[in-house]
Amino acid sequence: MSAGVRVFAEYHRDFEEVCDVVVVGSGPGGSVVARELAAAGKDVILLEEGPPFTPEDFELDGALSMARTMREGGLRTTGGTILATMQANALGGGSLVNSAICVRAPEFTLDGWCNEFELKNTTRADLDPHYQAVEEFLGVAPTPDEVQGARNLLFRDACNELGYSSEPIARNVQGCRGSGECFTGCRTRAKQSTDISYVPAAIRDGARVFTSLQVDRLLTRGSRVWGVAGRVVRPFSSELTHQFRIQAKVVVLAAGCMATPVLLQRSDDFANGSGQVGENLQFHPGVAAMGVFPQETNPYFGATQGYQSLQFVRDGYKLETLWAPPGVFAVRLPGLGFELKKNLAMIPYAAIWDAIATCNRSKGTVRARRRGLDPALTWRLDPKDLTILAEALWRLAELFFAAGATRVLPGVHGLPEELRSLDEARRIRTREFRETDFTMAGNHVFSTTRMHGDGRMGVVDEDGRCHETDNLYLADTGILPRSPSVNPMLTLMALAHRTGQRIAARV
Ligand SMILES: Cc1cc2nc3c(=O)[nH]c(=O)nc-3n(C[C@H](O)[C@H](O)[C@H](O)COP(=O)(O)OP(=O)(O)OC[C@H]3O[C@@H](n4cnc5c(N)ncnc54)[C@H](O)[C@@H]3O)c2cc1C
Ligand code: SF4
Repeated sequence: MSAGVRVFAEYHRDFEEVCDVVVVGSGPGGSVVARELAAAGKDVILLEEGPPFTPEDFELDGALSMARTMREGGLRTTGGTILATMQANALGGGSLVNSAICVRAPEFTLDGWCNEFELKNTTRADLDPHYQAVEEFLGVAPTPDEVQGARNLLFRDACNELGYSSEPIARNVQGCRGSGECFTGCRTRAKQSTDISYVPAAIRDGARVFTSLQVDRLLTRGSRVWGVAGRVVRPFSSELTHQFRIQAKVVVLAAGCMATPVLLQRSDDFANGSGQVGENLQFHPGVAAMGVFPQETNPYFGATQGYQSLQFVRDGYKLETLWAPPGVFAVRLPGLGFELKKNLAMIPYAAIWDAIATCNRSKGTVRARRRGLDPALTWRLDPKDLTILAEALWRLAELFFAAGATRVLPGVHGLPEELRSLDEARRIRTREFRETDFTMAGNHVFSTTRMHGDGRMGVVDEDGRCHETDNLYLADTGILPRSPSVNPMLTLMALAHRTGQRIAARV
């Protein structure tokens, strides 16, 4: 963590500040906007509700780590179809705990956005210079073989065996040692999360960064916004102390796909003439399976997510390798007591691979609750998207057996706890599933304040500017009009890079 970040212990009274631009949220969206504006000489304040983390603050125990770094202890779920979803509460936002996967959205996906959402300047060619600028800044590069570890390389071998394309995942890391700890925070600080990349760069360029500040409303006059207000919050608690107010010529909300719509709704439904704020909530629901091999895989070594296959992206899903602290995925292992203990003993022989699905038909809503800032979420998995998830699970099983696994644990209700052959795995293709059969998680979240060329159909334009006001911008994954087909962080950062430049030209 860099010097110049104001922390909880430094607030002694209520306070007010004035600046050109205030940015709310220091995740991949907000931090990039803040840095671009500071680099252009603007007086910027970046606000973050969570605290900064140092390597000593990271907890290897998955549950403890989630309780400290995630909202609602990492146990947030949707109503409707139950889906677990995590949003971070820390300087750096999701980039602190994510797997650092950086993938550009495919050309066909961005063309689809442009056609469906009346966008003129958001093709792949339009975004490529912004992707490139972010990649160069972060040092994004494919994961080298030396830190892949067996569980990632087995995935590569299986793809080769079946004739599916695959590649080492490009990540925003420098000097990764393959510790597989991305989820609980990178103790070597190899991962270039925004708290150690874009935020310090913004500070070097003159930005002021305040953590432990919870914005609870916009300050508005007519159709314009003139600042934000809220309370100081003690880290790892909900204790609120002093009040603050920041006045600015321009406000940028980058509080995340769940929090930004809540802030707008709490501010008398500001910028919501379209009625689209909090609508269209989309996820990349993910399914994961575990394969058990006859030989040791030593899964504790290897980049958290080192290999991927984009073979089926046009069919609606992406295949990847995965790792997390055993305590996190133990809940998915079958058995109790001695049986569970026996299954945990398989871990040194195991690999976990997952699929994320595009699921454009499955939508939900985000609503402010009467008290507090945690959102009420609904979401429903469309039956056609369920079919895609089942197909993706079949591909994972196929890959595991191609790699030489002797057992695959699908973690799906109605299937055997262990599939012992490819023939047994074929049941995945013939069985009719219900949405409740799958244990799903979705940490890629989109579209609750979507971008649209027509102000009656969306909340922001292609620059991230709210259609209804010329000095409020949004810069989190809520603006993505729908799924980017692949992991979203890099696409968000490219859009935020453009937004920062556009605001700088106007302030
Ligand atoms: C475990 C996990 C792994 C992931 N892996 C990947 C990956 O490898 N690659 C990838 O592309 N994507 C990944 N993602 C998704 C990616 O991290 C998110 O899409 C990304 O972080 C979204 O960025 P954002 O700026 O929209 O929001 P966030 O990262 O959520 O940042 C929003 C920030 O705003 C702050 N905030 C919220 N409300 C307030 C408020 N009221 N006042 C002040 N501050 C507030 C939050 O604390 C947070 O820091 C992963 C996500 C998770 C959770
Ligand atoms: S795998 Fe380990 S060393 Fe590499 S980026 Fe993730 S946490 Fe850091």
